[in-house]
Amino acid sequence: MRSKVFRAYNVWPDFPSISISGEACALNCRHCGRMYLHDMVPADTPDILVKTCEQLAAEGARGVLLSGGCDRQGRMLNLDRMLPAVRKIHDMGLIIKLHTGFVDRRTAGKIAEAGVDIASMEMVGDKSTAKRIFGLDATAEDYLDTFVNLWDAGIPHICPHICVGLHDGKLKGEMTALNLLKTRIKPSTIAIIVLRPTKGTKLANAKPPKGEDVEAVTGHARKLFPKTKIILGALRPRGSEIKGGMEQRLDIEIGALDGGIDGAEVPSKEMLAEAIARGFNIKRIQAYGVLPLEYEDRVRTDQT
Ligand code: SF4
Repeated sequence: MRSKVFRAYNVWPDFPSISISGEACALNCRHCGRMYLHDMVPADTPDILVKTCEQLAAEGARGVLLSGGCDRQGRMLNLDRMLPAVRKIHDMGLIIKLHTGFVDRRTAGKIAEAGVDIASMEMVGDKSTAKRIFGLDATAEDYLDTFVNLWDAGIPHICPHICVGLHDGKLKGEMTALNLLKTRIKPSTIAIIVLRPTKGTKLANAKPPKGEDVEAVTGHARKLFPKTKIILGALRPRGSEIKGGMEQRLDIEIGALDGGIDGAEVPSKEMLAEAIARGFNIKRIQAYGVLPLEYEDRVRTDQT
């Protein structure tokens, strides 16, 4: 998908994030330390999940991200028992993006039956990164197995997240992750995210990757997947956290543009100006960047 349209995504308020485990998580990842869960709407029982989604839909939400904490093997807490409720949310007409965690073939089949539209999961290409960051004994092939299970189950849209610099800010395994995905699945969208040193975590003082690192990983993804939508995700250093942060933000955003992305979540106005200077028209979309193109008439959009 190469066109002269640059997609600018904004998630809030049309696509709220819900944690199906509340604030619970058995892992304590170096880059997150359970901090990500604080910003999500908690809904840790099937009943609460359905009621929460009914209310969000009544308030105008078009879709939801279902995410949450994991068990010690990297599987989503509560996922199995929530899937009948997920089906009800699907039947309400909400678009469902599920962060799956590790899944076997059986769970992947149940996710497909629940009507999940978009399945996302990080793809890690180096087992030392999985150990150091998540505390998991998982190889790159273990990550790939989850994607193959989701693919074989027939989930319509599978969207791997590749985190540039996840290994304490250094590149390690990102290219392998992409190479492995290429051998087995056809992603609907690839989301490039970037290590964001986050206050209160073990990586609070890590040095995030540079724009040239983001360009290298994005460019590799573009080369391997020339027709796939590739976006820069919201999870990246976005400037307000540190001194000099805005320059760092733009360096990363320009690196992603140079690498060949098709859009970005919460792009800075400077990034949009640069995209326009490069000949793109801007299409603003109130949704996650992994929203499939054919779903765009189900959400609010505005093209300039
Ligand atoms: S599993 Fe997810 S929520 Fe739990 S600490 Fe790791 S990144 Fe954070």
